[in-house]
Amino acid sequence: MRLLSIIAVCILALGSCNHLSNTNNNKPKLVIGIVIDQMRYDYLYRFYDQYGENGFKRLMNQGMNFTYAQYNYVPTYTATGHASIYTGTTPYYHGIISNDWYDRFQKKELYCVSDTNYSTVGANDASGRMSPKNLKTSTIGDQLQMSNNGLSRVFSVSIKDRAAILPGGHMADAAYWYDGAIGNFVTSTYYMKELPQWVNKFNEKQIPAKLMSSDWTLSLAQGEYETVMPDDGPGEKDVFDEGKTTFPHVFGKHNMSEKLELIKNTPFGNELLTDFVIDLIKQEKTGQGKYTDFLAVSYSSTDYIGHAYGPNSMEIMDTYIKLDKQLSRIVDELDKNPGKGNYLLFLTADHAVKPNSAYLKANHVPTGFIDINSMERTLNAFCQKQYGVSGLIEKIHDGNIYLNHDIINKQKIEIHSFCLNLVTHMLDTYPEIATITTKEKLKGKYPERSMSNFILNGFNPVLSGDIIFELTANYGSEDNSTGTTHSSSYDYDTHVPLLFYGWHICEGESNQEVYVEDIVPTIASLLHIQEPEGTLGVPIIKPFKKY
Ligand code: ZN
Ligand code: ZN
Repeated sequence: MRLLSIIAVCILALGSCNHLSNTNNNKPKLVIGIVIDQMRYDYLYRFYDQYGENGFKRLMNQGMNFTYAQYNYVPTYTATGHASIYTGTTPYYHGIISNDWYDRFQKKELYCVSDTNYSTVGANDASGRMSPKNLKTSTIGDQLQMSNNGLSRVFSVSIKDRAAILPGGHMADAAYWYDGAIGNFVTSTYYMKELPQWVNKFNEKQIPAKLMSSDWTLSLAQGEYETVMPDDGPGEKDVFDEGKTTFPHVFGKHNMSEKLELIKNTPFGNELLTDFVIDLIKQEKTGQGKYTDFLAVSYSSTDYIGHAYGPNSMEIMDTYIKLDKQLSRIVDELDKNPGKGNYLLFLTADHAVKPNSAYLKANHVPTGFIDINSMERTLNAFCQKQYGVSGLIEKIHDGNIYLNHDIINKQKIEIHSFCLNLVTHMLDTYPEIATITTKEKLKGKYPERSMSNFILNGFNPVLSGDIIFELTANYGSEDNSTGTTHSSSYDYDTHVPLLFYGWHICEGESNQEVYVEDIVPTIASLLHIQEPEGTLGVPIIKPFKKY
């Protein structure tokens, strides 16, 4: 699906491959993708001195490290990120344009993985009424299944439902996510009728309650955290209702059901997922069969904590110091099962994050926000004045303006000139708008493997709005007096880590511009399987020898 010529960026990593010397198999036993929700690439380096030898450093120093991996579309949200990583393409083709979007046909907002045709397995609530039906293309896991008539097994796990369901694709054997209402891992009848015995047993252990009986304390001495803001830095959110935002974070005043939900906002959420992943590897015996298995893991607590405290906080630094250990537990387990050199691992993020607005403001960097509800009212008033009819703007959602086509058709308003008129008015009214375009202007254009048109790459001809805009750097659409967020095309949101490690991966480092859409064509080419049909990326690692 490469409609324009693409310069292939095949990088032959040079260096030691000693760790592969005793493996000569044609395929890895297991491919494992680890996505760290909201991880900025610079966390690899800012906290490097505090990491141990066997977590991030093991992947960085014994694997292939792409230090300039980027997203090339907007909006940079969790659902779009996971879908793009595992399909190798952008929302234009895979159809996951955001976490949720306005459906102009049903005239309501839809959640990306919601599907009322299915019910929850493992709880009596709606947490499992989900499926990947809105994902329009296949994933690398689907292609692996198609390569051998489903003899490979595909598993996907996360705290967040969307971060488990989308990476698993359409043919996953199982996707599991955390239901904070009851403190269990659950799934959907899309995948199975009942939970496997090992998942039931895992749930019965009530690990979330045990973890949350402790406070969140720093892993290292306070002095080790001198490269981030002081503990009471600007713009931190009091998530646990403690009356403070400093360590130790104490959960004692919350009852158990609140704690089961709050665990997501703590490093204990990552600890819980690590325990679950290690149990899955052991119980499902991933990588022990004849055919390559696939495991997608997405850590979510990093995102919840990042939103609350921001990338310059002691909380985020401590979360990554703890995650480094959690990661080393997983890699240690993989070294045992399926064994060192038998698995191919990649690690990346679904997006990164902006510094807290309060932090930027305190340091004189321009920042602010626009109230979208007020913008909707203002624009509707403008349209009414110009065209004499109300309700022409149906909805503004994630930078997409959806017009009411029923009224436009009834009033015989020429849509192209109407949009241009509105765009001119918006640029005159809102100096915070950096980029704005219309659906009409995007027609006939196709996404590219480049950062030349973030809006076009994130645009979907069926689902996107009639007018699409993006704000200037460091501006958002919600009040960020505390906490922070992501979704933009600016580097603080788009620049993520990308590490490959293990089977047929040599040590190396490259600062060449690569994209998250390159991950699955790279894996597909190493495994000699078909890449997903929407793939925009290209392989970025050459096999180190003919095999
Ligand atoms: Zn995310
Ligand atoms: Zn987020």
